[in-house]
Amino acid sequence: MKKRKMVIGNWKMSPDTLKEAQVLNDSIKRKIGSIKKTIAVICPPSIFFSTLKTRSSSKKFFYGVQNVAKERGGAYTGEVSASMIKSLGAAFAIVGHSERRAMGETDEDVCKKIQALLAEKIRPVLCVGESAMDENANYLSFIKNQLTKGLSGVVAANITEVVIAYEPLSAIGAKNPITSHEIHQRNIFIKKVLADLYGKAKAFDVTILYGGSVNPDNARELVEGGEVDGLLVGRASLNADDFFRIAKVMDSLS
Ligand code: PEP
Repeated sequence: MKKRKMVIGNWKMSPDTLKEAQVLNDSIKRKIGSIKKTIAVICPPSIFFSTLKTRSSSKKFFYGVQNVAKERGGAYTGEVSASMIKSLGAAFAIVGHSERRAMGETDEDVCKKIQALLAEKIRPVLCVGESAMDENANYLSFIKNQLTKGLSGVVAANITEVVIAYEPLSAIGAKNPITSHEIHQRNIFIKKVLADLYGKAKAFDVTILYGGSVNPDNARELVEGGEVDGLLVGRASLNADDFFRIAKVMDSLS
């Protein structure tokens, strides 16, 4: 079965107020209704979740969170559990984003978070990506390590629930993405790692996204050239029009 294209918007710690978040959310919801085949997901700050009416019955528009606690419940001040976000309608959750890894999130944490999410039937979006390329291609072992450690508790029956987002650090919040040729190489490499872990058929069913300086003008080239299943979008997801234009590109490629 052909995989549906996917676009995920990561609002990060924006916008500043609930009022602005409501305006952005309403505007995206209004526009995204005309998207036919693509799965569109927005990940607002979880503090805004209940007010944004994130419980949606749509089969193509979903909400996700940007992080989740690795523990299922208990005395963990400031944390938000998978069951809490599930009860507010979250269908996806980003884990292992490089900005969180920079704050200390380890591969072991990522692994636990993925387990907690799958137990609540929330789809984890596992971010992997090298901080720099090197001549000896050590960056490939780095990506492989992130994948194998993060997925170490995931059995074959669940692997297609996990979305992999390849995000090289050099392209996040940057001026330009990496080339679609480079994305294609990493995509093949990620599929190879998944095939070694779960078999070829499963590996080809896993949704693999690219993220890093995506905008409406480069979206087509990145997805077509990189042969990825979609995009994880930061800055451009804070503009309803840009996010919608990217989703429209995905729809035309579906
Ligand atoms: C991100 O942080 O996941 C991201 C892709 O950001 P941007 O699109 O702004 O580069």
